[in-house]
Amino acid sequence: LEPAYSFMIRTRTPGGVVAPAQWLKLDAIATTYAERGLRITTRQAFQFHGVIKTDLKPTMQAINAALIDTLAACGDVNRNVAVAANPLQSRAHAAVHSHAAALSEHLLPNTRAYYEIWLDEERVAGSGSEDEPIYGATYLPRKFKIGFAIPPYNDVDVFAQDLGYIAIVENDEVVGYNVTIGGGMGATHGDPETYPRLGDVIGFVTPEQVIAIGEAVVTAQRDFGNRAMRKRARLKYTIDDRGLDWFKAEVERRAGFPLSPARRFDFVHNGDRFGWIQSDDDTGGDRRAHLTLRIPAGRIWDRDDRSDLSGLREIARLLDDEGEGAEFRLTPNQNLVIAGVPAGLRERVDALVARYGLDGHGTASPLHRNALACVALPTCGLAMAEAERYLPELVGKIESLLDSHGIGDAPIHLRISGCPNGCSRPYLGEIALVGKAPGRYNLMLGADHRGQRLNTLHRENIAEPEILTALDPLFARYATEREDDEGFGDFLVRSAIVTPRPTIPLQLRT
Ligand code: SF4
Repeated sequence: LEPAYSFMIRTRTPGGVVAPAQWLKLDAIATTYAERGLRITTRQAFQFHGVIKTDLKPTMQAINAALIDTLAACGDVNRNVAVAANPLQSRAHAAVHSHAAALSEHLLPNTRAYYEIWLDEERVAGSGSEDEPIYGATYLPRKFKIGFAIPPYNDVDVFAQDLGYIAIVENDEVVGYNVTIGGGMGATHGDPETYPRLGDVIGFVTPEQVIAIGEAVVTAQRDFGNRAMRKRARLKYTIDDRGLDWFKAEVERRAGFPLSPARRFDFVHNGDRFGWIQSDDDTGGDRRAHLTLRIPAGRIWDRDDRSDLSGLREIARLLDDEGEGAEFRLTPNQNLVIAGVPAGLRERVDALVARYGLDGHGTASPLHRNALACVALPTCGLAMAEAERYLPELVGKIESLLDSHGIGDAPIHLRISGCPNGCSRPYLGEIALVGKAPGRYNLMLGADHRGQRLNTLHRENIAEPEILTALDPLFARYATEREDDEGFGDFLVRSAIVTPRPTIPLQLRT
């Protein structure tokens, strides 16, 4: 008998936008084939965990029947394109999402193998005859990540992306994007040749140039990325090895045009806003509102004390029946926006949210609302320590510490990863734990809350009692010495408790 192998399946959902009808289908797939419901990832995709081997094909076919696929959601290709989920600027969001979706389509691998293997498509040609104009015969040296941000919110952590686009919005219109290259979170413990890196702003492009510049960056990385040493194969190392100016010139040569000077931008926050909000750009006739719900660690399932999956199923049914134009948006911080809700349905949505206990965002502490955790144990084979399962306990203990200093309302960003690969973008957390071994973590401190400064190692390989002991005096000082509206990470840097790593050039901020 073969062992009962189980798998994780990840969707490709550019910008994390799904219609209510698609939500209902994804819910049914999770209920039929997966363990532990639906999980929202930090790249705005869904993961289905624990799909057993014999169910892989029917699961993939059911996902495709929902007009969603899993193509290029993994592997050495461009991954799911992340897009700001900002509910305030609906018109800008629609434009940015369409640019991101077009780039996502353009960068899909041209292979038919996916359709032949999973969707029973007939083979039409012998292997090796497919034309792959972007990826070529050997694809990229490593995975590739793209994100689109809409200032003033940096919820996609655009500087953590291999390739980032920062929307420049004038009079509600997206006039173009600042382009960033070379961000990335992954590292290896104890190996100085690997490190997290923030992307560099290299210039400005118009919306019509988005695809050309994206293809130029991807193909330059394809041709010059390190294929001899996999741990050094990400774009950030190509740029550091060859020089930013050289890489930018290569990108401009391939694109066939020079980048324009970067425009001014200003980020204020890299988390989500919770609760109801009305669009800034409503035209008046069609009053739509958007509700952001906190989904702890992105996990949506029914279990002892929660019924998230059932509640969202009821909301999806309501919107599918009566909420034309409404949609679900997964956020890059693992939360959920019920977007474009007509004014007439708002009360009924509220009632469902309350009945199913989906309103935790209203009562959770700011620490809890902003916390991120990767999936880690028991699902991820690379995990060295707990993350998602440990998060509630850890948050509770840090909340108690903050309360003891009278600062329980401090909006501190906490992130935890089960290993240094950094799927929860831990190096951009004001406080971060990066797993080293069961129950042991590196304590990283001092990122800002705008996603523009990396944190630094404060204590190495410590367990929970030492983590809390290390934080206690820092919270005490923060409580008494912080300036008005000063974030915890900014305070640690100003007080010289933490020596900062590079920050995005200030001349590009307002
Ligand atoms: Fe990613 Fe590592 Fe967490 Fe696994 S344990 S999800 S590889 S950060």
